[in-house]
Amino acid sequence: NEMTKQHLAEALKSLLPLIEAEAVLSGKNVHIELSECPEIYLDGKEIRQLFLNLALNGLEAMPAGKTLTVKTYQKDDEVVLEVTDEGPGIQEELLEKIWTPFFTTKEKGTGLGLAVCYSVANRHHAKIDVESSSLGTSFYVRFKHDAIG
Ligand code: ADP
Ligand code: MG
Repeated sequence: NEMTKQHLAEALKSLLPLIEAEAVLSGKNVHIELSECPEIYLDGKEIRQLFLNLALNGLEAMPAGKTLTVKTYQKDDEVVLEVTDEGPGIQEELLEKIWTPFFTTKEKGTGLGLAVCYSVANRHHAKIDVESSSLGTSFYVRFKHDAIG
């Protein structure tokens, strides 16, 4: 595990074509807004794994014609990765279970995606959380930009 100081957006960039292709194949849209943020310590491979899990979940949750939005931005002393979908949302009583390894509501799900996201966030001293309504779901990963990996 290799922590280097870098721009979050730079670390994510190489995955965007894959996510866009995945969206196009299923008739969905991707909106990307990567704003300039302070560098943070991160393990690029791990962060890409986290991002891919969130993006694929979001795309999978949406019917064709809907849009997945990916943002990076600075907020106070944090650098934030936000992944928002226009899917049906997550029922409130499931919200605390989704991080548990092997929890899935999908016939062929592994239930490991969000468990991996949770441990990757932890190893980065980042906070990961979710907000969901019937209009869609947002996942936020908040990095302290003065944190030492
Ligand atoms: P999997 O995708 O294999 O089911 P995850 O750990 O990635 O496993 O997700 C666990 C569960 O959380 C999913 O089965 C689904 O019920 C819920 N979930 C995760 N992301 C979303 C999302 N963007 N919209 C709706 N439900 C979601
Ligand atoms: Mg998943």
